[in-house]
Amino acid sequence: MRVPPGLRAADFAEAIKQFEAAVGKDWVFTSDEDVDLYRDAYSPLWHEAEEPIPSAAVAPDGVEQVQAVLQVANRYKIPLWTISTGRNLGYGGSAPLLSGSVVLDLKRMNRVLEVNDKNHYALVEPGVSYFDLYKYIHERGLKVWIDPPDPGWGSPVGNSLERGGGYTPMRDHYDNHCGMEVVLANGEIVRTGMGALPGAKTWQQYKYGFGPYIDGIFSQSNLGVVTKLGIWLLPEPEAYRTGTVMVSKHDDLLKLVEVFAYLMNSGIVQATTLVTSPLWFSRPNPELDALRFNGEVAGLEDYAKRHNIPYWSVNLPLYGPARVIEAQWEFAKDKFSAAIPGVTFADGPSYRFPLSSEQVANLSDTVPFGIPSLSIFSIMGPKGQGHLGFSPIIPMTGEAVLESQKVFTQVYRDLGSPTGSAASFPVFSFFARAFVNIYLFPVVHDVETNRKTREIYRRLIKESAARGWGEYRTHTTFMNDIAETYSFNNHALLRLHETMKDALDPNGILSPGKNGVWPKTMRKERA
Ligand code: ADP
Repeated sequence: MRVPPGLRAADFAEAIKQFEAAVGKDWVFTSDEDVDLYRDAYSPLWHEAEEPIPSAAVAPDGVEQVQAVLQVANRYKIPLWTISTGRNLGYGGSAPLLSGSVVLDLKRMNRVLEVNDKNHYALVEPGVSYFDLYKYIHERGLKVWIDPPDPGWGSPVGNSLERGGGYTPMRDHYDNHCGMEVVLANGEIVRTGMGALPGAKTWQQYKYGFGPYIDGIFSQSNLGVVTKLGIWLLPEPEAYRTGTVMVSKHDDLLKLVEVFAYLMNSGIVQATTLVTSPLWFSRPNPELDALRFNGEVAGLEDYAKRHNIPYWSVNLPLYGPARVIEAQWEFAKDKFSAAIPGVTFADGPSYRFPLSSEQVANLSDTVPFGIPSLSIFSIMGPKGQGHLGFSPIIPMTGEAVLESQKVFTQVYRDLGSPTGSAASFPVFSFFARAFVNIYLFPVVHDVETNRKTREIYRRLIKESAARGWGEYRTHTTFMNDIAETYSFNNHALLRLHETMKDALDPNGILSPGKNGVWPKTMRKERA
């Protein structure tokens, strides 16, 4: 049996018995065969000495059982690693950051506690997946949409806490949560926002309650175990349509993004889309490859013109009353036309809801329509390959897009990346007011390739931070590196996180090292 760091095998065996008494013998896993299922199959540290491997897993079925597990962990100072459904692919999956941690697996807590289609919200437990919630709503014919991420096999609780993004106007998942129930490390149950009021009637309708707004400290954090989460749902819209905006010159990007930001920040476009370069995205061919490699702008513009390919394009997804979204599209076209000579447009598909099952079957991607899917895996690369996302947040300006592509391409080149140029990646609008760049790296079962990827990744973090860009989320392997870059005033924010950690979790039992926050006993003090 594997043993958590600093624990004697006999004490761990005793603790395991107590976990079994808390949750039932069938729900504590200690054999290598069972525990290996919690490893990250695509860890960038795959089969290296540093790959974090859990020692056991324990799966409670309710809040009282969570409290009992925490009591045992405190008694023996056992590090736990909390997961909801553990599908956090690309960020560590269900594997802990600290080797030897016991996985606190909440997937048995899978009750949909409420769905309200008049005020449009749900209250769910951590083990409810996007598929479960979709099914619950669909079977009852409720007129509300969920907002699944790509892919939809994870949970609204895990994804919202990690501040993941989807595609509909509810795309910012943390922002669209409302009210939590959290078990603190000492076993105390706290309800946030209006939930603190016994018999509250608006726990899922009004976020703030009274006094300091506390929810944020439980996201991307190791300060509590979230056992219930409220999420806002989208009332089923009447209609949807898209339109594509295309420009032919490299420098048109500046105005393209300026108008795009205006439309986003005015609430005219409210959903996730991407600004991309079809020229960079198109198939490999020798002439284009040479131009791309050398970054020859005039040559690329000429190629684009000859082959009738836009240099840049953005697709605008619009949700709402049919008449309103038609007017929004017309308005957007007027704005782009006034700003960019030669801009062209193409109407995209439009739909009225609800969709028929035939329409759903014909959709190339169901996710923007609130229907969870796993289809993203078919475009993620060859079978047997995982991925890692490097995701800096950059300003929503054309200048920042161009600069980031230049900087990151240089890193790729310097370090001989197998994936080529950063310029071929689009920027996404998963969040309001800023772009997120997502550079995907393949993670394979080859130690040398993964070592190279880690080297590139760490250089990207440094180059990014040197320009004032920071990552919004990362794989457990890089959490320390990224936390280190958020260093204003001698790491004042990280020190505040540590102060809270010490106060709320003095034994350091909850997810040590999560997002760079370590308990006192495991912390290397900063100078
Ligand atoms: P998903 O259910 O979407 O697959 P995970 O269960 O993998 O997401 O969770 C992603 C991360 O979010 C975990 O590694 C953990 O750090 C954090 N997390 C997940 N669920 C909880 C929870 N209920 N309470 C506190 N933190 C959580």
